[in-house]
Amino acid sequence: MTDRSDYQKLRAHLAFLRMGAAAEALPALLDEAIKTKLTNQAFLERLLAVEVDAVDERRRASLARFASLPSPFTLADFDFAAQPSVDPKLIAELGTLRFVEDATNVLLIGPPGVGKTMLAVGLGHAAVAAGMRTYYTTAAELAARCHRAAIEGRWATTMRFYAGPRLLIIDEVGYLPLPAEAAAALFQVVSQRYLKGSIALTTNLGIASWGKVFNDDPMVAGAMLDRLLHRSVVININGDSYRMRSHRARAEATRKAVAGP
Ligand code: ADP
Ligand code: MG
Repeated sequence: MTDRSDYQKLRAHLAFLRMGAAAEALPALLDEAIKTKLTNQAFLERLLAVEVDAVDERRRASLARFASLPSPFTLADFDFAAQPSVDPKLIAELGTLRFVEDATNVLLIGPPGVGKTMLAVGLGHAAVAAGMRTYYTTAAELAARCHRAAIEGRWATTMRFYAGPRLLIIDEVGYLPLPAEAAAALFQVVSQRYLKGSIALTTNLGIASWGKVFNDDPMVAGAMLDRLLHRSVVININGDSYRMRSHRARAEATRKAVAGP
């Protein structure tokens, strides 16, 4: 058997196993192995490492696409000095994603513009980086999708979809009152994830006003809150809107500039 036919067979094996990255790296790695007198073991390790890296990269890219996170901001981008009501230590702890291990929920409560979405999305990026299946949706989007699913006879499939991710982010609960059907969908999503998978939820409504999301149906609101809060971290953000803050700072700077020395 010649080196050449061994080489061809090796290429064929790699192609059959769909190890494209390893196949591509093979010639250069073989050259290097000869030049540096690599052991068989070291050569094989390097060849497989190339493929492992490529598969890992693809998996991460696919997780990131699936997650549908609406902005690139990570927890590291959050300006804690601007938001004293958010405890950096708590966010750092959440960033370790230990909360996902025991299906703890994270509730971010506060008025518009204080960074609720940014923090939820930051947790999402951390989860994706850790290789966890993550999915971002708004409450309105979830409601619309469930509505279509009900009409098209795909309710069970859709419910399984929302049960799947290790971390489900539901943004903007309470901005719009949910019709009864949408409230029922949200309730079912929360119920089936209860103690199984984490939800990071943002809302502008204090917990006491949650009845409003559910058409003043205190039974549904109460049952849902029980499940959400049973194992949860609640973060109340009560500072100024970040956008307004930078707007004010700019206005202030302009005023000073205009007023002169
Ligand atoms: P919310 O979801 O509470 O309405 P967002 O998370 O959408 O607020 O924040 C509004 C804007 O301000 C976004 O562009 C966000 O990136 C930015 N922002 C808010 N809080 C902070 C912060 N503490 N540090 C940096 N950027 C912030
Ligand atoms: Mg938001």
